[in-house]
Amino acid sequence: MLSKLASGARGRISRVSSQITSSFAAKRALGSNVQSRSFACKAVVCGAAGGIGQPLSMLMKLDPNITELALYDVVPVVKGVAADLSHVNSSCQITGGFTPDNVDDAFKGCNIVVVPAGVPRKPGMTRDDLFNINAKINYDLAMAAAKNCPDAMFLIISNPVNSTVPIWAEALKKAGCYNPKHLMGVTTLDITRANTFVAENQGTDVNETSVDVIGGHAGTTILPLLSQVPNAKFSQEDIEKLTHRIQFGGDEVVKAKDGAGSATLSMAYAGAEFASLVARAMTGEAGIKACAYVESTVVPDTTFFSTPVSLGKDGVEQVHGYGTLSAFEQKGLDEMLPDLKGQIKKGQDFVATK
Ligand code: NAD
Repeated sequence: MLSKLASGARGRISRVSSQITSSFAAKRALGSNVQSRSFACKAVVCGAAGGIGQPLSMLMKLDPNITELALYDVVPVVKGVAADLSHVNSSCQITGGFTPDNVDDAFKGCNIVVVPAGVPRKPGMTRDDLFNINAKINYDLAMAAAKNCPDAMFLIISNPVNSTVPIWAEALKKAGCYNPKHLMGVTTLDITRANTFVAENQGTDVNETSVDVIGGHAGTTILPLLSQVPNAKFSQEDIEKLTHRIQFGGDEVVKAKDGAGSATLSMAYAGAEFASLVARAMTGEAGIKACAYVESTVVPDTTFFSTPVSLGKDGVEQVHGYGTLSAFEQKGLDEMLPDLKGQIKKGQDFVATK
């Protein structure tokens, strides 16, 4: 009886796991190369006990592209999160729950470092308000990563992403191991939201809907390219409303959670999807493209910018341009640049004072 129940549960779990994986794959219309994998991929989630960290770690534990997963956090409960997840019967091995006492063990040998560590926004707080706390957390994590896995891919979720990614860049430069191909700000949640809201608006299948979102990852620096969505037709009112909703979708969640945090589940989904794409590209799978906030020369004098990038074995293989913009989008781009540049500089200046 018990073994019958256990095998039923295993069947259900493996169906869930394959649904999650196939959803990641379906969106990008790329087959998984898991069968031919010869690359052992160790990842660490920093901030693994948090609102994003826990579901993100679970999705990564279910990802056949990740072979080992370490969970790191400053709170000791991370050991319990690791023990809990280690009972999930998927092939990825949980190497442990690590705290600052054994931080080096968490990072050592990692190929992918995913960073949802730090404080989330509360109602009334802007992403800028988070800066002082999260800047230091990210600086310290970058230094730990530089010491233990300098060649890893660094996927940054902590806000304000527009500033935390430049902080990572400057910290890694200071440590002598900065490789711009390896540092990516995770803006996937903006694309996730854009796909969802546009599919709702157009009455199309969300799995067939693909919206590029460029710029940065805060308010008006988020610029969805609705004019480039294939086969879509929007009124000017739709364009304005959708653009605003995509830019401020995070506020909807902050308000609805009423003081208890910001987006966690949708962010965990988006972060796991992006980490999965990076891992698949590292195995040698060709043709993987996604939007990410990376070092870029696409926009003059703007050192970090998000556009579609091609991912490969060594991270960001090519940074693509954004094509032709509508007049509305061009205005949005022109207006965002002073803010975006200021936020980049704020991150760079923070490290300069260290
Ligand atoms: P949370 O408070 O629930 O979790 C954060 C975790 O980080 C906690 O467990 C905390 O103990 C841990 N932490 C703090 N300092 C640390 C350190 N030095 N090293 C390791 N871990 C540390 O917050 P959350 O809701 O999970 O959000 C985490 C971050 O992600 C916030 O900065 C939030 O603004 C950001 N976020 C980003 C996006 C995005 O699209 N990029 C979306 C939502 C939230």
